Amino acid sequence: MRRQPTPPIDGSGAPDAPPSDILPCPSCGSRRRSRLFAARDRLHRIDGAFHVTRCSCGLRATDPAPGDIGAYYPPTYYAFGPVGRPPFFGLGLRGLLRTCVLRYHYGYRYGPLGAKLPASGPLAVLLKLLTRPLRRRAALVFGPGPLPPAVEGGRALDVGCGSGVWLLKMQALGWQVEGVEVSPTACAAARAAGLTVHQAQLADARLPADSFDVVRIWHTLEHVPDPALVLREAARLLKPGGTLLIGVPNAGGWMARLFGSYWFDLDVPRHLWHFTERDLRRLVAGAGLQVVRVGYGFYGAYSLLWSLRYCWEERAGYTAEGRSAFERGRLWVRDARIAAPLRVLLRLAERSNHLELTAVLPERP
Ligand SMILES: [Zn+2]
Repeated sequence: MRRQPTPPIDGSGAPDAPPSDILPCPSCGSRRRSRLFAARDRLHRIDGAFHVTRCSCGLRATDPAPGDIGAYYPPTYYAFGPVGRPPFFGLGLRGLLRTCVLRYHYGYRYGPLGAKLPASGPLAVLLKLLTRPLRRRAALVFGPGPLPPAVEGGRALDVGCGSGVWLLKMQALGWQVEGVEVSPTACAAARAAGLTVHQAQLADARLPADSFDVVRIWHTLEHVPDPALVLREAARLLKPGGTLLIGVPNAGGWMARLFGSYWFDLDVPRHLWHFTERDLRRLVAGAGLQVVRVGYGFYGAYSLLWSLRYCWEERAGYTAEGRSAFERGRLWVRDARIAAPLRVLLRLAERSNHLELTAVLPERP
């Protein structure tokens, strides 16, 4: 029997690769990409064969893009669950330290003590000095990623807010918050928590221009068909001088290179794009935003364990019991804080698993 030729991955009219399945590259517009390796949904194990491909501009993609992407987001998807109340710092030493960090390094008056702490004077100087080494840890209290400094009457938007965990935390810090989210399950959870959430793609939500001090696009950009459009819309929504916070898996990191199709954060086909720092910088600059900081985050240990799990499943086969035993073991590792040294290693490796980028919209002249 004659072997069928492998269809090329491009949108130039090959019968097995209809153009609609090959999204135009958000960076250069091309639909021509070369195959790197085969990939499939290893997390939820939903059927479908995909390839990770590379555009001539360097950006990596998942091809073909699934026709019904919603089918790959089951109700058990992690970001859609109900949310609890944001953490309260309490009144112990830990609570006091965190309240001081938020007060003197981020400008927040949070909790019963936050309002009472002096703004200036010797005590303020002393507390600021003492808590300086803890600055980054206060941000962690409110989840991973950079914590924006307080803005009087500040407004924050979370694009792809899931069930609204970050929005509730920001609200607790005094921000006026709104979210945009396409999943009805997640929207229902966010609304049940009292949040204002628009169920739409960002560009379809028709939010007013120049209306937010902070826009956050956290583990969302890699999920959308047109990241360039989302970034342009974010720039339109930001007030001049406003801040954009982006978090994506780092496709240029050594974990991505080491694990290939087993890399946990590849998350095919939910992740349509796989960004390196260079790709992300170019897209953000293309939307008229100025990159002020690039950092590498804290998801490394979690991803490493899951990537190893995927390798194991490939050899030993998948079983639901194995998965749940692994999940219990993973939680034990986390609770035992064995993961902490791994995180240190990942950070030392510099090109780590998770990429965080902060950009600002320049003031108009
Ligand atoms: Zn390209």
